[in-house]
Amino acid sequence: MLAQLFRFKGGVKPQTNKAISVHEPIGQAPLPARLFVPLHQSIGGAPSPLVQAGDTVLKGQLIGGADAWVSAAVHAPTSGRVLAVEPHVAAHPSGLPTLCVVIEPDGRDEWIERRPVDHRSLAPERVRELLRDAGVVGLGGAAFPSHAKLTPARAVAMEHLVINGAECEPFMTCDDMLMRERADEIVRGIAIFRELLSAREVLIGIEDNKPAAIAAMQEAVLRLAPDYRVVAVPTRYPAGGAKQLIRVLTGKEVPASRRSTELGVQCFNVATVYTAYRALTHGEPVLSRIVTLTGNVEQPRNWEVSLGTPMREVVALARPRADSSSFLMGGPMMGFEIPDLDAPVVKATNCIIAGSPGLFPPPPPEMPCIRCGACAEVCPHELQPFELYWFSRARNFGKTQEYYIFDCIECGCCSYVCPSHIPLVQYFRFAKSEIWAREREKQAADAAKERFELRNARAEREQAEKAERLARAASARTSEKKAPPEPAPAADHPPAAAGEAATTASEAEAAKKAAIAAAIERARLQRESAQPRNTDRLSAGQQREIAAVEARRAARSTADTTATTGTAATTDPGGAAVAPAGSQRDE
Ligand code: SF4
Ligand code: SF4
Repeated sequence: MLAQLFRFKGGVKPQTNKAISVHEPIGQAPLPARLFVPLHQSIGGAPSPLVQAGDTVLKGQLIGGADAWVSAAVHAPTSGRVLAVEPHVAAHPSGLPTLCVVIEPDGRDEWIERRPVDHRSLAPERVRELLRDAGVVGLGGAAFPSHAKLTPARAVAMEHLVINGAECEPFMTCDDMLMRERADEIVRGIAIFRELLSAREVLIGIEDNKPAAIAAMQEAVLRLAPDYRVVAVPTRYPAGGAKQLIRVLTGKEVPASRRSTELGVQCFNVATVYTAYRALTHGEPVLSRIVTLTGNVEQPRNWEVSLGTPMREVVALARPRADSSSFLMGGPMMGFEIPDLDAPVVKATNCIIAGSPGLFPPPPPEMPCIRCGACAEVCPHELQPFELYWFSRARNFGKTQEYYIFDCIECGCCSYVCPSHIPLVQYFRFAKSEIWAREREKQAADAAKERFELRNARAEREQAEKAERLARAASARTSEKKAPPEPAPAADHPPAAAGEAATTASEAEAAKKAAIAAAIERARLQRESAQPRNTDRLSAGQQREIAAVEARRAARSTADTTATTGTAATTDPGGAAVAPAGSQRDE
């Protein structure tokens, strides 16, 4: 049945250079004298070491446990002795060291006990845990832990499981050879993923420049899973990008900042499903991967290489020519120059290309942008690379984000077509790394601020609690001082006694009032006695006159008394006869 295909926007058609490395079957690379196994080989958390110097390990033994849900375990690629757990140069453009378990192989290649499982007898959660603990990650180059992608969206039914065999990067043939040689295992691995996701349909996309791989996969599908569809997609870079392949096979456009599961689609690389099958059905964790050795070498070929093998020893297998001047990890479009061949092969190492001035001539000098728009035409994510370039160059990182720099998959199509030879992707990588660095700084500053505010809040709370305690203590002391004497027990004060007490109190009050009144009277009398009489300090004449008046008054008083008692006549004090009563008298 012919499948309907859709086009994705943009893309380029560089020379593929794939044929040179597919003449020989996959070779088994020998074990090196020392393996440098990085503990952090996937996106997400860095596994913590479970071994130390001096330990002996068996092949497949866990040496780094996943430390988070988005993380994947790491295992010893062979049996031997742990020489050290120490930093070693990493397979990264920066060349910065990363923590590695250094193992000296003992040559026996002795396996730990392998425990195959039947995934159908286990709960999906348990299967995902087993995949995480087996170190299964995306082997297309992204190294995203696969178990984390195997949880279907709740709201949307899983329509399509897309298996990515496109391998669109020039020179690279590791997936091609894997499909040719191990198609059955890939198809069985797909079955596991399909069941975990309950996917309605399986679509296996392979670029049409790999006819042998297409044939091998079709044959395996016919035997093992006839309802899967192997689809040959047009060779156009970057058809192997997940969003581009989903678009080509299903017609669904995954919008920026959305996950494909929200549209009912999930995508995995062929090598990823292969390792998942080996992990569950054979109990073999991810210990090696297939690496394409190609470019300016005498013997281009694919090799199965133990993880941790120094690239120098791997490259030697291909016999690089004398004029080889550089080595790329990954393809020429998205790869990077290996800063140090002592860096080890990791799960993301899909290809090593020896470069030479003839193969990769030095780029012509960068010229000013002429705003031709060619870069925008080929961008598969419909970005405006020239705008991103201007803003990155001007360090206007806010604007680069407004122009969706994080939607850029760094496919390199824009750089490939730029007539001014501007290394656009390098500008974008620079801008992204600066934004990430600033974001990390901001997060660190926010965390410090939060800690500071929490500390202040705690100090204030403690201060308030202390003040409250002191206030309560002071209040208690004041209450003790003002408290009335203890009331006597009720039996000591019967009602009759209370009445007597009231009477005594009123008598006392009356006596007090009387005393006060007596005191007032005494004071009044004292005052009166102290006042001078108006007859004081009279002259002698006045005294005599008064005495005379008093005498006459006394005499008259005596006469009146006599008359009253019958006496006929009286005599005045001067001897003169006094007229009887009733006669006119002249005084
Ligand atoms: S292709 Fe190059 S020169 Fe043309 S617009 Fe883009 S950046 Fe400018
Ligand atoms: S590198 Fe980024 S901007 Fe350039 S074409 Fe690819 S996705 Fe577009």
